Amino acid sequence: EAKLDLIKKHIKVFPDFPSKGVLFRDICPLLKDPLALTAVTDLLEEHVRLTHPEVDLIVGLDARGFLFGPLLAQRLGVGFVVIRKKGKLPGPTVSVSYTLEYGQAEVEVQEDAVYPGQKVLLIDDLLATGGTLYAACELMKKKQADLLGCMVVIELKDLRGFERVKPISVFSLVQY
Ligand code: IMP
Repeated sequence: EAKLDLIKKHIKVFPDFPSKGVLFRDICPLLKDPLALTAVTDLLEEHVRLTHPEVDLIVGLDARGFLFGPLLAQRLGVGFVVIRKKGKLPGPTVSVSYTLEYGQAEVEVQEDAVYPGQKVLLIDDLLATGGTLYAACELMKKKQADLLGCMVVIELKDLRGFERVKPISVFSLVQY
């Protein structure tokens, strides 16, 4: 499809970033090109309208989930909620800690951001090992949200992150 081609053309590859051996996929060119960014929003909107029209909230992951999530939420006419790394959100929060390659990390959401039973879709820029998205799913479970699924712009298939997130499904626009 033309929109997918346009999106792929605006994803840049950086070998050995942020460390040796890592092939970093950069979405900055995608943000800079208005037509490519519109194509991303169009395809995500199309997916949600087809599969989860009942969604109440789009929940975005720190930090690049914040770039795509609000655009999508506006299209759908629903709210946008942020999941942040620990220590950034004021007021009462709920958090989940998870294991990174080196050490631990924690993500959190404001306590009143998601109500029990609300139908939620998670969004991030990229799925790698799935650790980040899995922690976000756990956080939504803790909030008793009705988690409908996850969406990413890019999925690194070889790392099999979708298995980590199972049984929650992950929809991706571009796969490598
Ligand atoms: P995971 O937890 O291993 O799935 O890593 C996913 C998280 O790391 C996402 O929040 C991404 O923004 C970030 N990430 C990992 N690899 C890349 C990459 O190649 N490009 C951009 N972001 C990446």
